[in-house]
Amino acid sequence: MATAVFLQQLISDPDRLNCLVEEAKELAFLHGLVMRTLETPNSSEVVTHAPFTLFPSLVSKAALLQALAVQTHFNTLVDKISQDPDFLEEALAGTVQADDFTAKLFDIYKQVQQEGRTQSIVLGLNRIDYMEDPMEDGTSSLKQIEINTIAAGGFGVSDRLPEVHRHILRSVGLLEESKSVQDTNRTSRMSAALAKAWELYGQQEAVILFLVEEFQISKLTHRCIEKELWNRNIPVIRRKFEDVYSRGSLDGDKKMFIDGLEVAVVYYRYGYMPGHYTEETWDARLLMERSQAVKCPDISTHLAGTKKVQQVLARPGVLEKFFPDQPQVVEQIRATFAGLYTLDMGPEGDRTVAMALADPDQFVLKPQREGGGNNSFGEDIVRILQEVKNDQRRASYILMERIRPRTGQNILLRRGLPVKLSSVCSEIGVYGAYVRHGGEMILNEAAGHALRTKSIEHNDAGMIDGVTVFDNPLVI
Ligand code: ADP
Ligand code: MG
Repeated sequence: MATAVFLQQLISDPDRLNCLVEEAKELAFLHGLVMRTLETPNSSEVVTHAPFTLFPSLVSKAALLQALAVQTHFNTLVDKISQDPDFLEEALAGTVQADDFTAKLFDIYKQVQQEGRTQSIVLGLNRIDYMEDPMEDGTSSLKQIEINTIAAGGFGVSDRLPEVHRHILRSVGLLEESKSVQDTNRTSRMSAALAKAWELYGQQEAVILFLVEEFQISKLTHRCIEKELWNRNIPVIRRKFEDVYSRGSLDGDKKMFIDGLEVAVVYYRYGYMPGHYTEETWDARLLMERSQAVKCPDISTHLAGTKKVQQVLARPGVLEKFFPDQPQVVEQIRATFAGLYTLDMGPEGDRTVAMALADPDQFVLKPQREGGGNNSFGEDIVRILQEVKNDQRRASYILMERIRPRTGQNILLRRGLPVKLSSVCSEIGVYGAYVRHGGEMILNEAAGHALRTKSIEHNDAGMIDGVTVFDNPLVI
């Protein structure tokens, strides 16, 4: 509460506010909370501070602990889904007919299945996002927004934000609050899982390949992970899809090579959107999926992270199938689910359409896309559904209950953005890391958490498109 009162005072004293904002930005540079700029994404000569909130945001302790406690079960669930061809086929049957991107991924999946998978090491690095849904009794309920199984970001340079927040709180005299901002070691824990998979692969000279984009605005965050790996004497290389297409190959045992180097692990930091692929780079994805390299994620785990799978998991009886003798686990997972509804063809999907058209403000319409900025709200839902409601195209979407998260006040600091008090809401992210070798889970843990905050002016959110900023929970 003290920060809210303080913010009101601060906003009425612009000189003091500007000084504090300058100080916060300088601390960001000092601690390495930096990123490349949109104008020069491939140069490290010009950087800016990563976007962040001036103060940490309030989060309920119960919600945060609940999200951390359920994470290992979600890791297990994602892993089980990835090993269940019948489930994936049935869940995605309508979606692959309606959505080209999911269909392409599914084609690769089928091809790998038919050939027979030979790599028994599985590495999962995911992030599950939640919002706090306020209840009438003043408490809040934790609701899952989505499961990210490919290129989950938000760790790396942002690990330095707690230091900045503690300093700012101390410098304005909020000592108690400053003590409650905790450091996070999510980057080292996520990297440790990468290291474990490399170690199990068992070839000292083999490398971890970071599959990266042309537009490398997040390179410094990648460097944080790479540094952890090099510290363990694990060689890391960075390559694009095009490099793999033109210079990657498999030997007779399907070991993957590029530029004379054997690849132990492919870590996708790219490849989660249709625009990331061309005809040729789809071939590169297939080559990597067919290879002996450990993929993070492999194609089946990528599919397990689709919005459609998330919706199917919320159907009665589905979680029970994955955890037949563990009703408490089922309960713990299900407690985080918001309402999720199918838009597949058939009477159930028809009911979803009618429900959404009757009260669109209660819902979010989601296509099978990642990275922010893809969802529809309010009147846009009506427009889209009116167009697709009578044919298969509607099956490319799912409908989700709209969460109205708890709001607060904060100042969002982003290069070029005017300094002003904003009404904001936050999303809690919990990182999950697991490594399975054949039938044995070698590592399965919650690898820390993150908070990302946006102005409530925006419905959807993404980090690169400039809506969301890094934050820390101030636990109450
Ligand atoms: P993406 O994979 O593109 O990140 P998300 O499902 O995470 O898709 O949605 C993007 C953003 O849209 C979220 O970060 C959140 O701000 C908003 N959002 C998504 N689902 C809901 C929901 N059910 N209620 C309210 N806001 C939502
Ligand atoms: Mg998201």
